[in-house]
Amino acid sequence: MTEELAARDAYLRETTATVVAVTADGVVLDRTVFYARGGGQPGDTGVLEWEGGAATVTDTVKRDGAVVHHVVGEAPPVGTAVMARIDWERRHRLMRTHTALHVLSAVVWGDFGAKVTGGNMEPGEARMDFELEGISVEFGREVEARLNAALVAGHQVAVHFMPRSAALGDPDLIRTKVNLIPESVDPIRVIEIGTIDKQADGGTHVANTREVGPVRVVGTESKGKENKRMRIVQSEPTADS
Ligand SMILES: [Zn+2]
Repeated sequence: MTEELAARDAYLRETTATVVAVTADGVVLDRTVFYARGGGQPGDTGVLEWEGGAATVTDTVKRDGAVVHHVVGEAPPVGTAVMARIDWERRHRLMRTHTALHVLSAVVWGDFGAKVTGGNMEPGEARMDFELEGISVEFGREVEARLNAALVAGHQVAVHFMPRSAALGDPDLIRTKVNLIPESVDPIRVIEIGTIDKQADGGTHVANTREVGPVRVVGTESKGKENKRMRIVQSEPTADS
């Protein structure tokens, strides 16, 4: 098992750690700030540094409770003390993108009663699919306006750990399919955005929706009956954001 520091504090950029295993595809540490790919969020990239060496981390995945850092070049041997540092610029963009997606899902559910059927993100851009009969450019514009209004409202984004039994009885978490989380997971990590959204989630988020910045809806398309896709992109943060 790897202690996953980002689960409690998404703003940690680096940590000291010890190599506990080296596998064919990467390095396992006793603890890490790297986010392992999952829930539509890509794995972190960055660097491991140690006395006399360094390795670039190209991706991070989770396997049997262990976080595996995919490295290029020579891996540090077991027992080595390392500094594990993420590519913060990329990760922060992903945090903004991930929070934007949750607010998008809250707007489309709250104002139009449509559930999310899927989604995926890259730094600064994402797509989300909804259980909608139809979709239009005008609808996209309407959602874009409501999404940006919700973001600038400055909702706090909180991380909770809820006992599984309580999570399974929460209507918001039921709607977002908390029951599909493996039974061994207890407590369940929950991301709550002000009063507008609450869902079980493993990802990294900004602390306040204002930090997301402006978001544009750049595409609306049909992916089948009752399945409509929306694409969003983020503006780069300005000096005063
Ligand atoms: Zn999420």
